[in-house]
Amino acid sequence: MQFIDLKKQYQLIEQDVISRINKVLQHGTYIMGPEIAEVEDKLATYVHAKHAITVSSGTDALLVALMALGIRPDDEVITTPFTFIATAETIRLLGAKPVFVDINPLTYNIDPAQIEQAITPKTKVIMPVNLYGQCADYDAINEIAAEYGLYVVEDAAQSFGATYKNRFSCNLGTIGCTSFFPAKPLGCYGDGGACFTDDDDLADKIRKIRNHGQSTRYNHVTLGMNSRFDTIQAAILIAKLHIFDNEVRLRSQVAEKYNQALSDIVAIPHIEAYNTSIYAQYTVQVANRAEVQAALQEQGIPTAIHYPVPLHKQPVFSMDYWGDADLSKSEHLATRVMSLPFHPYLSDSEIEFISEHLKQAILSKCIS
Ligand SMILES: *Cc1c(COP(=O)(O)O)cnc(C)c1O
Repeated sequence: MQFIDLKKQYQLIEQDVISRINKVLQHGTYIMGPEIAEVEDKLATYVHAKHAITVSSGTDALLVALMALGIRPDDEVITTPFTFIATAETIRLLGAKPVFVDINPLTYNIDPAQIEQAITPKTKVIMPVNLYGQCADYDAINEIAAEYGLYVVEDAAQSFGATYKNRFSCNLGTIGCTSFFPAKPLGCYGDGGACFTDDDDLADKIRKIRNHGQSTRYNHVTLGMNSRFDTIQAAILIAKLHIFDNEVRLRSQVAEKYNQALSDIVAIPHIEAYNTSIYAQYTVQVANRAEVQAALQEQGIPTAIHYPVPLHKQPVFSMDYWGDADLSKSEHLATRVMSLPFHPYLSDSEIEFISEHLKQAILSKCIS
């Protein structure tokens, strides 16, 4: 059994993917070919944003977004420590300082009630992460941002396809950033990402930054880099978008089946009534995690930890000063979370098998 089975999906779209890749090989515009504009158009339409600008990864989407907002050394960016390294890495790469705020233990997302006390005159951006595919509370976050004149950069690497109060993720802040890493809810067959915004000016800056700050060829008006999405990956993403709505439905059905099987024995994902999760991960909480994981592994059931070490405890950041923020909820949950195999094509019998063995593993650990 695979943790995320991408081959089942490929079997469904094989012909379409091959013919779209062939088309790119025939026209030969491997860099910034016509499929780039085509997929950007489809992506913008999907999330109801005015602009979608593809880039070479989710990490670059965050970096380019912060660059477009003019983030500089000594600026501060408020974010969560309960996330993948890329979130704070991009802040630090620009010489700015990630200021960590603890999470709401139910949703695992940044707790808006704790943001205000972290704001200083140096704060420029709030960067929430929509962990496991569920959006943070953007009404509360945007209200604070408006009051203090801050930007909101949505780390939507795990939440393309999720909704918040009937609005689409990637379009809930100043700039939304997503990833097309193969295992994300909408993945390509390599690295990729995109920035989304309704702001014409920012869209223009992002477009320039991803291509060496060029306005016209060899005229470089701003500091940029090579952060372009490959044409072949754009072609693949177009094929994937055709089945995405169906996959959104299948994902929520798989989650519902897990919920029914597991709600009595573990803490299942808590999804706010105003949210729909895209379940980038289906993550439960268990005590004795290492033992439970080992018991499942014996049955051939892979599990994963997202993420075992909160970012303020990572060696790369340990030399920095983090202040005295209480990040105990992130620290505690990092010892308990465990993600189960999850993809749209997980069968009923697989869900039953995984659930049954998870139950047994937990019960036997309780007794012993
Ligand atoms: C995957 C991920 C990223 C980075 O995306 P890449 O495409 O792998 O660079 C950033 N933030 C979060 C929360 C992620 O899960």
